[in-house]
Amino acid sequence: MLALQGDFREHRRQIEALGVECVEVRNPEELEGLAGLIIPGGESTTISNLMKKCGLDKAIKRKHKAGMALMGTCAGAILLSKTVLNEKRFFPLGLIDVTISRNSYGRQVDSFEADLNVKGLGKVNGAFIRAPVIEGTGNNVEVLSSFNGKPVLVMQGKILLATFHTELGADTSIHRLFCSVASDGF
Ligand code: GLN
Repeated sequence: MLALQGDFREHRRQIEALGVECVEVRNPEELEGLAGLIIPGGESTTISNLMKKCGLDKAIKRKHKAGMALMGTCAGAILLSKTVLNEKRFFPLGLIDVTISRNSYGRQVDSFEADLNVKGLGKVNGAFIRAPVIEGTGNNVEVLSSFNGKPVLVMQGKILLATFHTELGADTSIHRLFCSVASDGF
């Protein structure tokens, strides 16, 4: 669990509810031996700056190349995408072939919850909090759920992206999916 900023505690609670060990990562050494890393929601500009400062940006890329799975929710999804539209303040990690735009449902007051249909999982409730919108996906990206005609949950190889928050309610199904992706090969 990347624990630099954002709602990492809620993710940790979900992962531990599944009986899976979870550690908080604040520097590159703490990535050692992890099957997967979750980048939480929060403020993508802040998380990006903090990652860069301690070298976690490069370390995450290196570890992912060596097989570590990645999940990003909301700000985390922005940071893992290849292209962030109209963003000049930071460069994303660019690990999944997704074009995304920040704050595209509007301001904080325009946040909402929605019942989503997720391929293989059924109904999942998602909280969209100043959420980004996925505007485009490459051919190798599988869309697992869409809302209003836009993908909201996508996967490519060992990377899972959700534009909504998966960690706020009692439903652990998205975290379970990520744990099964991450444990593959372990
Ligand atoms: N609006 C935030 C950003 O652009 C993301 C919001 C969230 O993670 N809930 O970074």
